[in-house]
Amino acid sequence: MSTELLTRPVPGTTVFVPELVYFEPDAMNYSKGQKIYEWAKQQGLEIHMTTSHNQIRDLPGDSELEKYRIAKRTLVVGIRKTLKFDTSKPSAEYAIPIATGCMGHCHYCYLQTTLGAKPYIRVYVNMDDILGAAQKYIDERVPEITRFEAACTSDPVGLEHISGSLKQVIEFMGQQEHGRLRFVTKYHHVEPLLDAKHNKHTRFRFSVNADYVIKNFEPGTSKFHERIEAAGKVAKAGYPLGFIIAPIIWHEGWEEGYATLLERLYNELPAEAAQDLTFEMIQHRFTRTAKNVIEKRYPKTKLEMDEEKRKYKWGRWGQGKYVYQDEQANALREFITEQIFDKFPQAKIEYFT
Ligand code: SF4
Repeated sequence: MSTELLTRPVPGTTVFVPELVYFEPDAMNYSKGQKIYEWAKQQGLEIHMTTSHNQIRDLPGDSELEKYRIAKRTLVVGIRKTLKFDTSKPSAEYAIPIATGCMGHCHYCYLQTTLGAKPYIRVYVNMDDILGAAQKYIDERVPEITRFEAACTSDPVGLEHISGSLKQVIEFMGQQEHGRLRFVTKYHHVEPLLDAKHNKHTRFRFSVNADYVIKNFEPGTSKFHERIEAAGKVAKAGYPLGFIIAPIIWHEGWEEGYATLLERLYNELPAEAAQDLTFEMIQHRFTRTAKNVIEKRYPKTKLEMDEEKRKYKWGRWGQGKYVYQDEQANALREFITEQIFDKFPQAKIEYFT
């Protein structure tokens, strides 16, 4: 191997650029709609108009799989009509809808089932309506604090260079005595958010995992070292920081994998990060429907989804999910909790589910 090859820097994960962009005609009445239109034109992207962001039916592709892959590279710019927010337990009271869909290809992602036949990416231009609705939810609960989760249906950091919406929500919450924001990301493109006036009302979380999980199940997202570097920048910008270890996956060598994860966080994060740090832990779960979809979309996946090995947990609305047997779940929870407290004794563990 030539020295040139050995020393050539590894290219970083690039920002998302769609192949196709659809606009609802009314979206052009908003400055955000116009800005995205200009951006798409400058990028030389194929632009179409559509009557509704909920009805993109003519995506190219000869097979279901091909259509799915193209949908993941399709951006739809529209107006958010439903302003009733979903609840978002246990991490927040409400989900704030600024985008739907994601360009990542995480095999286990629940969006595969929740978005059904509409895996394309939607961003909404009517931010005043969305923030107005958030204001009402905040006012209803005063003097309680109301927390909003911005990453329930998307990874908004990965779309920020296109929409700029996350910064708007961060700055809105910065001014709210009783409103707080949180979101999680697997992308490292945090630059546009570093100078936002967050007033420490936004908890910026990164999704992290054992190497085995990131390498095998998270294609199309930023690499671990990129996420950690970004977490350092975010901590230096004064944001409260958090990590979500999810999905926690039982695999050969999991103890070493999760111990190394915590060790790397400890070694690579700047001192500021430890000041106000939270961890959330979510064990891997799947439904029967999810399993069917995942096996079709990622036929070679190594994701273990053997119902026989799992415990069935009844759901509130019908279909339950398969989680780890208690013994395994306890072992994962106890081991990772110990590792967290060993490295970050001041951190708060919010939940394990
Ligand atoms: S980055 Fe998050 S939202 Fe996107 S595919 Fe992966 S798990 Fe799903």
